[in-house]
Amino acid sequence: MLVSERKPWEEILQSLGTRDRIFVVSCGGCADACETGGNEGLVEAKTKLQEAGKQVTGAVLVDYLCNKVLVGIRMGRYIKELEGSDLVLVLSCGVGVQVVGAMVDLPVHPADNTLFMGGFTGVWPGAERCAQCGECRLGVTGGICPVTNCTKELLNGPCGGSNNGKCEVDPEKDCGWMLIYERLKRLGRLEDMKGIRPARDHKLMEPPPERRKTIYWALENVE
Ligand code: SF4
Ligand code: SF4
Repeated sequence: MLVSERKPWEEILQSLGTRDRIFVVSCGGCADACETGGNEGLVEAKTKLQEAGKQVTGAVLVDYLCNKVLVGIRMGRYIKELEGSDLVLVLSCGVGVQVVGAMVDLPVHPADNTLFMGGFTGVWPGAERCAQCGECRLGVTGGICPVTNCTKELLNGPCGGSNNGKCEVDPEKDCGWMLIYERLKRLGRLEDMKGIRPARDHKLMEPPPERRKTIYWALENVE
């Protein structure tokens, strides 16, 4: 289980910029349980986008966005719609956004922030990981998480130690920022590398008091 909350719609719409043709993907798993995905989320997203003058090129609900096979099968039915899209808006935890980013040659933008685990974890076959940082930045990193792919969790580009695409801390590991650079280059979005991202607000790692009264938080803290 990955517990998420919706980003403010103003922030989501701002992140889309001038890209008008939006394909929407929503997760029917954890995000549905958290009311940040599911069919209701899909309907809400379509309405918000259309009210903002965007064209919704397609919309699909996938039971578990962390399951790459499932995502591939479901999204494979929308190749034409995806070809006519500028980006994909994803309603799910950070893992789901990364999975969609790995499956399509389009920018992926998160509609949700991932907060905490909710006590138990599902099993997903892919390598994508989310550290529940509370402020999902995948929209400007080509859908690759800088927190879980960079050993130093850097947010503003690589450290000086990246060597032939490998991490200076662990030469067996790909440098997360090289992966981000290559993905952004392929997407024609290298300008996203230029923005300065503020330091992480680590308070977001601790859910707000109202969240700590939920069953999911209780499960997280079961001894
Ligand atoms: S930026 Fe990474 S750690 Fe933070 S919510 Fe997104 S996927 Fe998870
Ligand atoms: S080499 Fe790359 S992955 Fe390793 S700490 Fe530096 S930027 Fe991060």
